Amino acid sequence: MHEFSLMEQAIQIVKASARDHHLHDVTDISMVAGALAGVNVDALRFAFEVLKADDPVVAHSSLEITEEAGTGVCPRCGETSPVWHFDLRCPRCGFLPMETVGGDALYVKSISGGRCDG
Ligand SMILES: [Zn+2]
Repeated sequence: MHEFSLMEQAIQIVKASARDHHLHDVTDISMVAGALAGVNVDALRFAFEVLKADDPVVAHSSLEITEEAGTGVCPRCGETSPVWHFDLRCPRCGFLPMETVGGDALYVKSISGGRCDG
């Protein structure tokens, strides 16, 4: 399950960001997962629940993952459409597959928590 290593990296990013913002613990983490990023969001959530227990900085935080569609562009008729999975057929002319733009990112969007200096 590569979601575990992805989540380990995400937690490292969260912790570095918490240090930069002088947060002693993190309460909320917001992540964005592209629909075409090849990750299973449920597996990410599960990995987070397992991994956070080992780390006091994130142990009491909750994770929100927003899924983001890519954009499909039809090479035949130019139609654009949000794409949630590969092999999408053009809704206008039926061409398969549409070319995809974006939707392949996985990143930490924001965090919040308690500051060290109160
Ligand atoms: Zn088309």
